[in-house]
Amino acid sequence: MKFNDLISDMERFAKKENVPIMQKESLDYLISFIKQHDIKSVLEVGTAIGYSTILIKGVVNNITSIERDEERYNIAVKNVELSNLNNITLIKADALDITITDKFDLIFIDAAKGKNKEFLDKFKSNLNENGYIIIDNMDFHGLVGKSMTIEKRRLRSLVKKIENFIKYMEEQTEFKVTKIDKGDGLYLLERI
Ligand code: SAM
Repeated sequence: MKFNDLISDMERFAKKENVPIMQKESLDYLISFIKQHDIKSVLEVGTAIGYSTILIKGVVNNITSIERDEERYNIAVKNVELSNLNNITLIKADALDITITDKFDLIFIDAAKGKNKEFLDKFKSNLNENGYIIIDNMDFHGLVGKSMTIEKRRLRSLVKKIENFIKYMEEQTEFKVTKIDKGDGLYLLERI
């Protein structure tokens, strides 16, 4: 199967089955960031069906990606096989329950949006000395900053968590924090 056909099939599948995958604009930013910063290894939290995993692997030496949903993990395994790419390690687990000892040049967090603080606190020790962390969906469809106006309780609580996480990132002193206004909003963390 041709690489571009696989990517188009994955995009179609994600749309049809309501699987959240990265927006094109944020993915393009991520890929060019990786190229510009000579990133060789990536840890991704949140594989879904392997869409961003496969596209990121196109520009790095190796990627490890974690997915807790069994059905999505199985689809990702199949898609990785179809891609014919090597050095992709898929892990079926809840990212908060496993121990990873390897170090990476980039940690890309794109999993449960209410757990970003836990992911950051846990995986920052897996970062190489001059590594970067990028976190997706920090605008959360334009709702971040407007939590007080959201009527649905669960959605309000999730958006509040993202707002609190942004505050937490901005108050910590380990990383320089930059908001990237691409796609659904990214945050870039680099060690000070
Ligand atoms: N990065 C993917 C892409 O752009 O193709 C999209 C990932 S999707 C936004 C988020 C995924 O993270 C979901 O498939 C969800 O099951 C998974 N997830 C959420 N919390 C997780 C956790 N604690 N551990 C592992 N996977 C998790």
